[in-house]
Amino acid sequence: MGVLLQNVRQGLNLLFTPVLYYGVMASVALQLATWEKGDRTQDKFQDQYQNQGDKFDFIIVGGGTAGSVLANRLSQQYNILLLEAGGEPSPLQFVPGFARAIVNHPQVDWSYMTVAQKKACAFSPLRRSTWSSGRTLGGSGSLDFLTYLRGNPEDFNNWGRITGDPSWKYDNLLKHFQKAEDLVANSTDPGAHRHGGTLRIQKSDYLPLGKQFLSAAEELGY
Ligand SMILES: Cc1cc2nc3c(=O)[nH]c(=O)nc-3n(C[C@H](O)[C@H](O)[C@H](O)COP(=O)(O)OP(=O)(O)OC[C@H]3O[C@@H](n4cnc5c(N)ncnc54)[C@H](O)[C@@H]3O)c2cc1C
Repeated sequence: MGVLLQNVRQGLNLLFTPVLYYGVMASVALQLATWEKGDRTQDKFQDQYQNQGDKFDFIIVGGGTAGSVLANRLSQQYNILLLEAGGEPSPLQFVPGFARAIVNHPQVDWSYMTVAQKKACAFSPLRRSTWSSGRTLGGSGSLDFLTYLRGNPEDFNNWGRITGDPSWKYDNLLKHFQKAEDLVANSTDPGAHRHGGTLRIQKSDYLPLGKQFLSAAEELGY
């Protein structure tokens, strides 16, 4: 009896997992389309009655990660016009777990494709890969997985070399990264992060293979 029940349960799992998965994917598409339509209608309605003849000190094109921070800081002193091609993020975009389901939907993503690759994308149609980029208030930061990481220091040092401007070097940019941070934990490297900024960061409380991953990398000499 126990074995029979177990088989039935496994059978139901096999049947319902794809039904659930494709059901969720379909409902995300529907939710995003409905949200976009409502948002655009509201914009049109508001445009008719508001913002006529306003004057601005600065116009920022693109309300993505960088544009939004810039608009926020400048708006404390100036009158700002922020132009964004996409609309208000849908409620689904506030749940990082949905990021995988939301990318590549044209309502929120420019949905670029790469050119055909010679050494990669062997199993993609025409060897081209999708190349997501946010088209929504908050930009790509409204699609992302909420992993906090700074760029590779050598990339910034390279910009410093190319531009001949040392202010692009990693050591000179570090204070700007840190200014934004509010680390909710004790850092193992005391100089690396700061507390008290507007961007809250914390360690993930679920890192099942974290230690093994690091020791494997160490073993390979990274
Ligand atoms: C799917 C995905 C997952 C990611 N996950 C992570 C992560 O976990 N951790 C991490 O650190 N980084 C992640 N990133 C990268 C990170 O989101 C980006 O590096 C960052 O958001 C780039 O900021 P940005 O301001 O340069 O550009 P964006 O945030 O892309 O902003 C550009 C904005 O300009 C708008 N725009 C463009 N052209 C026009 C126009 N002509 N008129 C008006 N508006 C226009 C766009 O719609 C967009 O909103 C991820 C990126 C993607 C796409």
